[in-house]
Parts: sequence; structure tokens; C-alpha cells
Amino acid sequence: MNKAEKIENLIKENGRVKKAYDLALNLHKGQKRKNGEPYFNHVLATAETIAQWGLDETSIISGLLHDVVEDTEYPLEKIKEQFGDEVAFLVDGVTKLGKIKYRGVERQVENLRKMMLALSQDLRVIIIKLADRLHNMRTLAALPPQKQKRIALETSEIYAPLAYRLGMQWISGELEDLAFPYIYPKEYRWLIDNINEKYEERETYAEKAKPILKKILEDAGIEVLKIDYRAKKYSSLYKKLLRWDMDIEKIYDLVALRVIVNNIEDCYAALGTIHNNWPPLPNRIKDYIALPKPNGYRSLHTTVFFVNNKITEIQIRTKAMHDEAETGIAAHWAYELSKNTKTYMEGKSSFADKRELQWVNQLKNWQNEFSDPEEFLESLKIDFFKDRIFVITPKGEVVDLPAGSTPIDFAYQIHSDIGNSCAGAKVNGKIVPLDFQLRSGDIVEVNTQKNKKPSESWLDFVKTTNAKNQIKSGLKGNVKKLVSTEIKGSDLKITVEDKIGLLKEITAVFSRNHVNIISINTISNARFPTLKFRCDLTTTDKIEKLILKLKTIKEIKEISYQLFKTN
Ligand code: MN
Repeated sequence: MNKAEKIENLIKENGRVKKAYDLALNLHKGQKRKNGEPYFNHVLATAETIAQWGLDETSIISGLLHDVVEDTEYPLEKIKEQFGDEVAFLVDGVTKLGKIKYRGVERQVENLRKMMLALSQDLRVIIIKLADRLHNMRTLAALPPQKQKRIALETSEIYAPLAYRLGMQWISGELEDLAFPYIYPKEYRWLIDNINEKYEERETYAEKAKPILKKILEDAGIEVLKIDYRAKKYSSLYKKLLRWDMDIEKIYDLVALRVIVNNIEDCYAALGTIHNNWPPLPNRIKDYIALPKPNGYRSLHTTVFFVNNKITEIQIRTKAMHDEAETGIAAHWAYELSKNTKTYMEGKSSFADKRELQWVNQLKNWQNEFSDPEEFLESLKIDFFKDRIFVITPKGEVVDLPAGSTPIDFAYQIHSDIGNSCAGAKVNGKIVPLDFQLRSGDIVEVNTQKNKKPSESWLDFVKTTNAKNQIKSGLKGNVKKLVSTEIKGSDLKITVEDKIGLLKEITAVFSRNHVNIISINTISNARFPTLKFRCDLTTTDKIEKLILKLKTIKEIKEISYQLFKTN
């Protein structure tokens, strides 16, 4: 059953989905997308993707209705009335996420990702948003260039990494690939001009080698469910090429063969058989079954001197591992759903009772299966941020504050002068009292007044130590700046997939670019550690250039930075 049929069946057989379908069709009637298509096509495509990923009925309905609040006159209350609290909650979450915009400020990236997770509360919100973004990226060509670039950047900096963390490896890669031509048009052209022939050559080769591999494995008594091959994604290929002096001959996994077998024993048996027949390249055997990647990815990888001595990468995994690599957390969830309510996967109309979903609990169980649960938890757990809120300045910058913070905390967080002269505040365009409790996603604006002094009463409600200290010193009359504005350097936080020699590789990039490292700290010693480099760069320009260079190192997963000042 293909995905179009799947959702069609769902709609036909499920009254609630049909009701949402009809409502969305009706509400979006007459609305057109930039490419001239009816707007409804977009929400239907989003719902189809959600169904394909195996999420529950509530998510599919929310997918159909995800743009209703934003783009039609239909209010959230009516959704609640018609479809219940859970659908309303998910639609509201997706609407909120849509308001967060990434405007290319590198140091905002990590905060934005955290804010997305904090705002979502339920990971289904993010998954629906990812399905929405996937379709928007697939149809990005219709938008004006300015918008294309912004959305592509946001996708590559925010959504693709989020998908990756949720184990949705394939989707993360697809998002990166869809964004790549818009962010790096010249590089993309170069790639297309230089690679297509190589791709085709490699595919023909893979096609020929497939039956040979299959026979060898079957002769060894291993049941092969499927062998296919996948072409390397453009975006990751480009990163790799940068490391190999743009020499395509050096990229062995341009096209990798993928073997799907029944169980883990067969995975290892297949690996042994392959190595018996084709010698492996040293240091290229990766056992992600014994040691899954922190995002949950499991597989065996090896690179061998294959048929005709051609160096070729082969990946071996079970069906379950394969599904997980494609849709990550969604796949896992679909599996849990099918266990609980067998009828779901058979496409019948009975769905999991929502109490049975207990989605966060399942997530925790899932995490327990990992070799390094703590690290994994940290990147996924939604209440990890429960004591933090993320609010936005009118310019779109994200400010990270403790829960319960007020506009005064916000003002002092921006600058001591703004705190001291704070006279009033607006939240989401409305005037609020200064002790107003901010919530994640609020847009906060502060009005200042010349010669205004901080008030002692502020001490009763501010949350941050920073605000408290500044108010006290302001009251004493010595409104001297506690923080000097002289920038002394910057801290780069680099999250890596550890490997021997990596630190040397990273420091080499620093020295090649004539950047002095002041200190290096390891924040966690997990297998997915974060390294903190303090260096002497003082302008964002230079830092961003350095980051671009660093990003060519494959093991580097993420980089964020912060300037630091003396005090
Ligand atoms: Mn949408």
C-alpha cells in the first residue's frame, strides 16, 4: 500500500479523520499556494507524511488542521470543541513553532532548538512540524529567492538537526539536501556538473554487484530480505569533498549497498561472509549495533574491495533498524502502537487509546536501551527545559531565562542600563505589569525612561541573580556597569562524534586560521561529547568563517558560540 492509499483508507474508514479532512478542505477553499496549487494540497501532503511515518490518528488529524488557526478564521476553541483537547494542543503547538523564525544568527541556533523543544511539550508537535517543513521544502522553488534562502537556512540550522536528534536520520538528510541548493547555489552547481556521471556509473555497478552479493550471502545460509543501494546525499557529499580536496575518486560511499536481513545474528554473519569474500579496508568497519549512535542509529558498516576490486561501502541491518533509520522516533512509536493495538497497522479504524500512548514514558524506555542514555536523554527529553523559558526580543533574538522570569529579568539580561531604566513592558504587543510572568515564545518589548532608577519593590519578584545584583547596586546609587563591554574572545561549543585524533584535527583548523586557543574543556565525557574552545576571536565575522572551516570535519555535529567579555 503506498502512502496515498494509506491515508485514503484512513480517511474513508475513520470518521474523525474524514471530519478533519472535510473541514480543512472547506476552510482552505479558494486559498492558493505560491505555485498555484490549492492550499489544501499542502495540509494533505503533511498528513500523508505523518501517516506514512506511522503516527497516531490524533497526529494525522492535527496534520490536516495544522494551518487552520494561522491561515483561516477558524479559532482554536472550535477545534477543541470539534476534535478534543489533544488535537487542539498539537495544532496550537505547531502554530507556535511556526512563529519562531531563524534569521541567521549563529549564536541563536542552540537556543532556538531548545526553545522548539520546550514549546512543543509533546514531541508529536515537532514531528508534525517536520512533516510540514518537508513539504514546504519540496515546494520551495515557487517562493521568491529571498524567502527561499531564509527558509532553507532555517531548515538546515534548526529542523534538520532536530530531526537528526530524534533519530530521523533519513529525513534530516533529505531536509539538508533540499536546503543545500538554496544555501550554496554555486557549490551545488559544481556538484551536479561533476558528479552525475559518477553517480550513474556507480549505480550501474551496484546494480550488477547486487545478485553476486545476494548469492554469496544465501550460499552461507543467510536469508536476505532485500539488497538495495542508496546514493549519498548531496549535502553530506559536499562536506566530505571539502575534506578530500574535491577529489570524487576518494569518496567510496558515493553509492552504498544496503543489505536487510532478519535478525542481529544474521547481520554479523553477513559481515563475516562479506569479509571472507572481499577484504575489508582497515578502520572502516563500524559496529553501530553494539554501539548505536546517540540518536539511535543502528547498523553495521564496512568498506571492502568489492567485485572487480572496486572499493565499496556496504551497510547491514535488520528491517526494524532500517525503519528506525528512516523515521527514527516515529518508527519506534508506530511499533509501540502496533504492539498495543494490533489493528492500527492493519489500517483498520480502531486506534490506540490515548492513555496507552504515554508517549513520554515510551520515550524514556526507549532511551534506556541506549549505551549512553544520559547523553541521549539530554538531547531529547522535553522536560529537560522545564525550568527554563525562551522569550524573543522584537528583533527576533532568543533570550534564555529561568521559569517565572519577569520583564525586569529580561531587561537586565539584555543590558544593565536597560534594566535600570525600565519603565514598562509589552508582551506580544500588550502592555503588562513589570511582575508579569513570561512564558516561552513570548515576544517581549521593554520601554525605558531616561534617568529612571530601579525600584526596591522589583526585588520581590525578580528571578535571576543577575537582576537582583544589578537592582541592589542601582539602589545604592552606584549604577556602574557590572559588565565591561570589551569583548575579549569567544567560546566555541563543539559537539562531536568522538574519534581518535579528532582533537588534533580540530586544533589544526584553529592554527591554520591563525586563531589562538586559550583553553579547551570537555563538557561531557560521553561518546557524543561537547568540547568548549576558548579562543581569541572577537568578531562574529571571523568566528563564522572559522566555523565554516570546522564544519568540514565530519565528526563535528554542531557548533555554537558566544563572545565573552572581561569583568
Ligand atoms: Mn503548513
